[in-house]
Amino acid sequence: MDNINHCISCNVKGCKHHCSCEDYCSLGHIQVGAKECFPGDEECTDCRSFERK
Ligand code: SF4
Repeated sequence: MDNINHCISCNVKGCKHHCSCEDYCSLGHIQVGAKECFPGDEECTDCRSFERK
């Protein structure tokens, strides 16, 4: 990965957008979504820009 976006910290190493050398995303922006309209905890939210390696 050439682009390291230091504004998006991420530890999802199984994503093809992850900068494998550092825990950051390589995308310019990401989409975050929730499984529920009003999530009650952090497990209810996910990165929708994830793509499997
Ligand atoms: S797209 Fe989402 S899951 Fe993938 S590296 Fe970027 S922030 Fe992490």
